[in-house]
This record gives sequence, structure tokens and C-alpha cells, in this order.
Amino acid sequence: MKAEGILPIIGSKLDQLTGLYNRDAFYREAVLLLGARYDTKYCIVCLDISCFKIINDLFHVDTGNLILRTAAEYFKASLNPRTSISSRTDADHFVLCVPESELDIERLIKDLDERIQSLHISHNILFFAGVYPIDNTRLPIDQMCDRAGMALRRIKGSYLTRYAYYDDKMREQMIEEQLITGNMEAALLENQFTIYLQPIFNPVKNTVVSAEALVRWFHPVHGMVSPGKFIPVFERNGFIVRLDRFVWEEACRLQRKLLDAGKPIVPISVNLSRLNFYSPDLPEFLSGLLKKYELKPWMLKLEVTESAYTDNQQQLLAMIATFKELGFPILMDDFGSGYSSLNMLKDMPLDTLKVDMAFIRELEKSDRVAVILKFIVELAKALGMDVVIEGVETQAQVDYVKSLGDVAIQGYFFSKPLPIPDYENLLDKYLSNMEVD
Ligand code: C2E
Ligand code: CA
Ligand code: CA
Repeated sequence: MKAEGILPIIGSKLDQLTGLYNRDAFYREAVLLLGARYDTKYCIVCLDISCFKIINDLFHVDTGNLILRTAAEYFKASLNPRTSISSRTDADHFVLCVPESELDIERLIKDLDERIQSLHISHNILFFAGVYPIDNTRLPIDQMCDRAGMALRRIKGSYLTRYAYYDDKMREQMIEEQLITGNMEAALLENQFTIYLQPIFNPVKNTVVSAEALVRWFHPVHGMVSPGKFIPVFERNGFIVRLDRFVWEEACRLQRKLLDAGKPIVPISVNLSRLNFYSPDLPEFLSGLLKKYELKPWMLKLEVTESAYTDNQQQLLAMIATFKELGFPILMDDFGSGYSSLNMLKDMPLDTLKVDMAFIRELEKSDRVAVILKFIVELAKALGMDVVIEGVETQAQVDYVKSLGDVAIQGYFFSKPLPIPDYENLLDKYLSNMEVD
């Protein structure tokens, strides 16, 4: 991420904007420091800011600069100059070299947050940190920084975890991540991605009410790659935006195919990863798909995950309002898994609430969960929303859900995600006597 106009002057020792060391100077000074204090265990800490580019775009570049300077002032004031050094290596990237005994990373992030909040910028600005406790002093300094950077990339954008420590497993994961990144373009071109459909069932009405499109990757050599592996990578490298569009189109194509065959259909819900909300042409793209496949908006439900609400509220709300105008039903995914569940309910015109799997999993272990689930269903109904409970796997769970009234379930008890032909058979079984307008 590059912040224009605020790059350090190459060759000079200090970064002009912040007065911290620039990258080259930091490398030199860190090597000297580590050499002189060889009997002290040190950590390299990499820090950067969530969505810094957006801050620069939304506000003036001066606002970005102010944030960077404020962070730099904090490092200068809080680190012991005799034992520690700090740098801005480029854009919004800071690197520190601090003795392990003097590093309280939680406190550092908390203090930074407070400083930045005191600037009263109307955007959620969060610092993320990766820490490499130097266990191999013979490693070149740039590789030490890479390791701290690896730890940072692992958690960047997660919102729940703000810092991570490097461990050797991260190197393996990094190699895997590079493999995924190296293969993704070809995979899309060569049709290695496909959608599975997981039917959503209403146990009271004993019928299928909708389905969720879930992407699958069949790699010619590595076989099936789990979405749990590649989706987080694509969310980090931005490819998710293209893959999501592919999935939406596949869902539309399937609806059209079923309609052409004279079959009844149910709405298919598709996932909208939060990166999509940065594309201003998103509503246009979605309505373009409806036109292309001659579908009505109810046939495609949009799943927005609760965590999307954390970073970019205004943009998200504006986008959702546009989707509503276009007639798309909106579903909140993973409800109850984050921090902003009730805020989202307050602010958004949602049609369906999908309750996070964690609730049904905990049901048998805790009576309190049953109370919370009942409350969520009542709340949703009072706000005029449908409810889907995710992750229903057992008869006991189904019985409990039934006791809550008109609530749908998505889970292995009723069906796993199915390849398209199996999904078609299932629809035939349940819906063959239904009419669709
Ligand atoms: P999600 O959106 O919460 O999707 C539900 C996940 O729960 C699916 O995993 C589904 O197979 C799984 N699941 C459903 N019922 C049960 C159950 O009873 N027990 C258990 N243990 N699991 C159940 P899947 O397909 O592996 O997808 C994982 C996640 O990957 C999804 O979570 C979603 O966040 C992401 N994902 C999948 N496809 C797409 C896509 O096309 N676009 C985007 N942006 N994300 C996707
Ligand atoms: Ca989903
Ligand atoms: Ca979910």
C-alpha cells in the first residue's frame, strides 16, 4: 500500500514525514543494536493500519499524514531510546526493534488506538502488529522483518485479533499461501471452481425454502481444496472479488437453467465478501446479472457477513440501501459471531438473519444458549425478519429449532452442500408440485 507524497527521501537517514528511521537506516541501526546488546533477547515488531489507502482516499492526504505522525510520536515517546529503535519503512508500515522484556504488545496497540481515536477521524482506524521474537540471531535483518511481516499478514483484517507472534508453522502456511496465489488465475480460467448448493430447510413446513451457493475448488493435482484454506487467502490478496462474481454468475446461470427446464426454484443466497463493498459498480454488476439471465431479484439473496460491518459502515449501509431499492433480499450471515450484531440490526433493512453455527453447537452444553437463541428468534420476528439457524446436525437440535416456531435450518442433518445434479434431484423431490411465478 503506497501513500502518495509521504515516501521517505531515499538515501537520507530519517523519514521526512515522521522523523523516524527510514528502512535502510533501520536495517543498519538494528544490526548495530543487536550486535552491541547480544546478551539481550529482542523482538522485531511490524505494524500497519487497516485500510490506510481508503483513509487517504476518503479524507485528505493530510489526514493520513496526521495519523502516521501521531503513531510516530507515540513510538518516540514510549520506547526507551537506549534500548529500542523505531522506523517507518514505507507508507503505513512501521517496524520496531525492542527488547522482549520491554515489549507489552497489547498495551502498545491499546495506547496507539487511544492516540488515534483522540484525533476524532470518523473512520475506524486500527493498528495491527506482527512480532518476531528473535530466536536466530544469525538471520539477516530483512528476513527477521519478513517473519514479523508474516505474522502480521496472518491476522490483518481479522478485527478480533490485533497482533500475532511468528512461529515456524507460519512459514509453511506462507508457502501454501503462495501456492494458492500462484494457481488462482489459472484455476478461474480453467473452470476449476464450481458451486455446490446447500439446501435450507423449514422443518415445520417440511420443505426446502432456499439454498446457499458455496464455492468449491477442484485442483487437477491437489484435488479438492477446502474453502477454509483458500477464501482467507483470497480475502487477503483481493482475488475474492473476482471469485465472488464468478459464484454469483454460476448461481444465476443455474436458476435460469432450472427455469428453462420448467422447474420450480427457491432463492439462492450468495456470499458477498466484505472487499466487494469497495467496488462502486457492485449494484450495477448484480442487476446486470439479473438482466442477463432474466431473473427476478428474489431469486438471488445476498449474504453479508456480520464482520463486514466493522470496517466500513457508511459505505456498507449505502450499498445495502441500493440493493434494497433493486429488490434484492438481504441476509445477515454469522449473526452473533462478532461485536456489532445489534448495531447491524438497528441500522440495516435485513430480510433474513442467519444465526452463527456456534450457537447450535453450544446448545446441549448450556441452558443459557437456549435462552439466547429463543430471544434472537423473537427479536428477528418482531423486526419482520426470517431466521435460519446454521450448523444443525442432530435430531435433538432439529426438535429444539422446531420448538422456536417458523425457523429454517441449514446443516448436515438435512443436507450437506450438494453438487448441482444432486441439488436438482432434491428440489424435484420437494418442490415438484409447486408453481413459481
Ligand atoms: P459460511 O458462509 O458460513 O457457509 C457455511 C459453511 O458451513 C459451509 O462451509 C458449509 O458447508 C458449512 N456447514 C453447513 N452446515 C454445516 C453443519 O451442519 N456442520 C458443519 N460443521 N458445517 C456446516 P464451506 O462450504 O466450507 O465454506 C466455509 C466458508 O467459506 C463459508 O462460511 C464462507 O464464509 C466461505 N465461502 C464459501 N463459499 C464462498 C463464496 O462463494 N464466496 C465467499 N466470499 N465466501 C465463501
Ligand atoms: Ca454464508
Ligand atoms: Ca454462516
